[in-house]
Amino acid sequence: HRDTARRELQGPGRTADGVPVELMANVADPDGARAAAEAGAEGVGLFRTEFCFLGRAAEPSVAEQVSAYRRVLAAFPGRRVVVRTLDAGADKPLGFVTADDEPNPALGVRGLRTAVGHPDVLDRQLQAIAEAAAAEEAEVWVMAPMVATPAEARDFVAACAKHGLEQAGVMVEVPAAALRARWIFEHAAFGSLGTNDLIQYAMAADRVLGELATLSTPWQPAVLELVRATCEGAAAHGRPVGVCGEAAADPALAPVLVGLGVSSLSMTPRALGDVAAVLGATTSEECAELARLACEQPDAESARAAVRGRLAALL
Ligand code: PEP
Ligand code: MG
Repeated sequence: HRDTARRELQGPGRTADGVPVELMANVADPDGARAAAEAGAEGVGLFRTEFCFLGRAAEPSVAEQVSAYRRVLAAFPGRRVVVRTLDAGADKPLGFVTADDEPNPALGVRGLRTAVGHPDVLDRQLQAIAEAAAAEEAEVWVMAPMVATPAEARDFVAACAKHGLEQAGVMVEVPAAALRARWIFEHAAFGSLGTNDLIQYAMAADRVLGELATLSTPWQPAVLELVRATCEGAAAHGRPVGVCGEAAADPALAPVLVGLGVSSLSMTPRALGDVAAVLGATTSEECAELARLACEQPDAESARAAVRGRLAALL
């Protein structure tokens, strides 16, 4: 039996045959960033900036934003920090950009869509991110939430370039973006799969409703096909794709995601050790085989059972 007992993260993530899989952390504030660095995360794959300003009626000044972002970047000198622009709306309303009277907030003006009515808010946030990046040593990448079309990706990348932010990418969490990845990645330098929303929109199942849990799982073969489509479209342009939704924290799913073409996994820091252990015991060829096995199944339960069974035989 191969050694999967390690629970502490030891060194960078890689498969048993040495293919690197970056193991990153999802963070929401400076305290979380410091804890993630202590847990051994290689960087931050998702910095949810909106959490710094929840419950605020007025937009934070550029200076206040610079200070908050700098404190997160400071925890990862020389490392990558992927800063997500404000994902306001639906489950995370921000009074200064979102309406509170939408009939279907999850399908409303949220994420990057708020920049249509408030281009100045996005512009000031990008200015703050650029200033923070210039003042700290972290390698700053920027990405937009809720991108649905290539034109949105193009416009976001252009807005970032105006501030000298050259590594500009998109979250892939709307099925349309996954299906049209080849066109999205003509513009975006990288992609990050937000599986929480991707599942919600692919399965038409509200992510906060526990009674829909059997639908709301990343083991749904339909969701796995969207992950594959995203990776294939990005690979056509040589762009890397990571996963930053909760799916990245499931140790049995990690080799499947890698087999589908994902090159980094960003998660809650406490999951890093378990995910690293399974990946480190599985070769990239086995990952590809597990991905094929999962996608061949008719439903989520059989996909999970088939992969768990195969992993138990392998590890
Ligand atoms: C996601 O949708 O998977 C994601 C990472 O973003 P959030 O959970 O913040 O919407
Ligand atoms: Mg999301």
